Amino acid sequence: MNSIDPNTAATCRACPKLCRHVCPPALGEMRETLTPTHKMNLVALWQEGQIGLDQDLAEVFYACNDCGACTSRCQLKQNPAESLYAARAIAYQKQVIPQPVKDVVERHHTHGNPFGPIEADPPHEQANIQILAGCSMWYHQPEEEVETLRQALQQSHTQPVKVCHPEHCCGAALHAAGALDDHRNHANLFVHHHRHVTSLVVADPHCAHHIRSVYPKLGLNLPFQVIHYLQAMERSNLSRKHKTRPTPVFYLDPSPLGRHSGVFLLPRHWLKDLNYEVLEFVSSHNQALDTAAGGIYRWTSPEGALRHAHQLLMPLRQSSENGENVALITVGESERSHIEEANPDLKIFDLNNWIAKGLLNLPLPLE
Ligand code: SF4
Ligand code: SF4
Repeated sequence: MNSIDPNTAATCRACPKLCRHVCPPALGEMRETLTPTHKMNLVALWQEGQIGLDQDLAEVFYACNDCGACTSRCQLKQNPAESLYAARAIAYQKQVIPQPVKDVVERHHTHGNPFGPIEADPPHEQANIQILAGCSMWYHQPEEEVETLRQALQQSHTQPVKVCHPEHCCGAALHAAGALDDHRNHANLFVHHHRHVTSLVVADPHCAHHIRSVYPKLGLNLPFQVIHYLQAMERSNLSRKHKTRPTPVFYLDPSPLGRHSGVFLLPRHWLKDLNYEVLEFVSSHNQALDTAAGGIYRWTSPEGALRHAHQLLMPLRQSSENGENVALITVGESERSHIEEANPDLKIFDLNNWIAKGLLNLPLPLE
């Protein structure tokens, strides 16, 4: 388990807020208290015994979505997210936590995921290659969309591919909540359910990053390799009739795929193969701003997370006002659905879906 790093607390509290302009909770709520500097100052004051743990302080610990945007800007190589996570785990253990955190854990116990009831009930089937769509996709999309991902992957690999059952969510929200025991049990069960799988192909980058980076820290030996959907699909299998002129789209790097997993070029190459022209935000690749679609903050402060995702897309909105009608593409349903909820006036797409449709020769959006 992470622990509170006194060096980070001391360094950040003395910093002139050099990463305040990238922290989603600070931007979404426009509150100085939620800048990494002030969050770590409060962690330090608590550790020194100058303030006590109460609901207000716990809310500050929960105002972090583990995006790493602060660390990517930090000249002093500090990682506030780790210490904030450790603080949340203590707050959770003492049950001094915001009500929405209790609700997320409760929904996990009842429905197996942080969203709520999922209608789809595909057969429990196993194969060497299994596709994990992610609970966000099961919750927000019709079952046929998952089937499209499965068919395209099967065609790409020319061997049977089955889907993981929607109940088998990775448990990232439990982890972000600081519910360590619940998360450990959940992760153990997840691995047990997939013990006969050799390749777990994961569509949502939040789930892929979580299973790859957190499960081994629990001492779990993964019987399968974890591959992201973009990486599992063979680009050479694309036999698409290209349009004469590429269609411009903005690409937004999701933090778990980009900053945390180092996958920057592949989505851009896929878009090029599909004959789209990639437009870049001013901050992209490792410096991309996070949407607040992952972690716990979207659950503890949905308004702040959505406001931030709305502000983030101002450049795209301005392009639309100029009559350019430009769309946004990102990767995974967690990102897509969160950004869409914040920006119902814009067109937001999931690259996984485009790749699957491209390989199956189905019509693509904007064509
Ligand atoms: S992470 Fe770095 S830039 Fe951000 S507050 Fe801490 S020391 Fe400053
Ligand atoms: S990890 Fe992200 S949300 Fe957390 S303090 Fe850093 S910038 Fe803010």
